[in-house]
Amino acid sequence: MENPTTDRLTAAMSTLEAGIKALADSDQWRRFLKAQAAFHAYSYSNTLLILSQKPEATRVAGFRTWLKLGRHVRKGERGIFILAPVFARRKAEEAQQVQKDAGDDVADSRVVCFRLVAVFDVAQTDGEDLPAPVQKLTGDTASDLFGRLVAFSAANGCPVTVEHIAGSAYGFYAPRDHRIVVREGLAPDQAVKTAVHEIAHSILHRDPEVYAAHRGDCELEAESVAFVVLHHSGIDSGAYSFGYVTTWAGGDEEAVKALKTSAARIQATARKIIDGISTDAEHCDAGDEETLRTDALAGQAAPAVAG
Ligand SMILES: [Zn+2]
Repeated sequence: MENPTTDRLTAAMSTLEAGIKALADSDQWRRFLKAQAAFHAYSYSNTLLILSQKPEATRVAGFRTWLKLGRHVRKGERGIFILAPVFARRKAEEAQQVQKDAGDDVADSRVVCFRLVAVFDVAQTDGEDLPAPVQKLTGDTASDLFGRLVAFSAANGCPVTVEHIAGSAYGFYAPRDHRIVVREGLAPDQAVKTAVHEIAHSILHRDPEVYAAHRGDCELEAESVAFVVLHHSGIDSGAYSFGYVTTWAGGDEEAVKALKTSAARIQATARKIIDGISTDAEHCDAGDEETLRTDALAGQAAPAVAG
């Protein structure tokens, strides 16, 4: 016999997939990619340099790049120093030979040395909002769900608290303490979405090493669980979830592929949470193999690393 809840979960997954595809075609996404392209992909050693000077840095760019993005570095902000290559033009004959050898168009310059240049984190700048792939949820349709989620997670041994969070995150899961923090002051729908996302991490990604090694997949799974659970409760978190999933997957095609790979884990986890927050009348069958696998994962011992 067909289980109607399975149909609803599958429908939610299809909606998520369609949303990801539609987003990739939108102006919002194009604006985001354009801004994204302005940020340099820093080398491994420069990334280490940035993090050693400013561990909380999220978006780093040079003074002029910030101006191009409509933002300016605040007066008095200290730069983060990284190493930039200095190019020198080759002599004409030498360039010709190198060009023949390499067949490329950078043959008329070569790196002669490195110098220190200053870059700045987005938190050190003011100005226009950067084009974002996600829109914060502002509705309050989910107001009664938050309490049920908190109770469900606490019963699973993972307490949820609402606190002030430094930085821009709306919430986090701390595997070492097996606890969840949701940012205070969020609109009810956003708070509920964030809580489900972090609860999904607490169920699926309790091992920090697995999380660190497969961060993109873990984020895609957690956000997809959030989308499916909210969809089941009649709340559309697409404005946030489509962009979040697509960004972490590295593009829409990759996201659709990863969704298919993780479909069973996503649905089993969503079902577990839906069951846990449902009144008896809505209770659905959760006794399948995927749920058991999820339970086994949740039982793993885990050291530190926030997610
Ligand atoms: Zn996450």
